[in-house]
Amino acid sequence: MEPVLIEARRLPEERRLRLTWSDGHVAEYSYDLLRGWCPCAGCQGHTGLDLRYLPTGKPVTIESIQPVGNYALSFAFSDGHGTGIYRYDFLREIESLAT
Ligand SMILES: [Zn+2]
Repeated sequence: MEPVLIEARRLPEERRLRLTWSDGHVAEYSYDLLRGWCPCAGCQGHTGLDLRYLPTGKPVTIESIQPVGNYALSFAFSDGHGTGIYRYDFLREIESLAT
């Protein structure tokens, strides 16, 4: 069974997001790196290739977190962007690249 997300907690001082999963795994992501990994079509284009990391060059914070069904999260970033749907499997995949 795929692990599901139990908790998404913002750590404002570290500017990191901490995710706790049903398999006991805990991971932290930098706000800026999460923003750079935004999977939306506007950021990634429509190439259908693997998702790319696209740094914005400006520090951002996460202003709010919305669950999407029971399979993904979306984030309202402080630069006004918020269209990315971060699937759980994608979050697990980029974990080592976004710490
Ligand atoms: Zn985007």
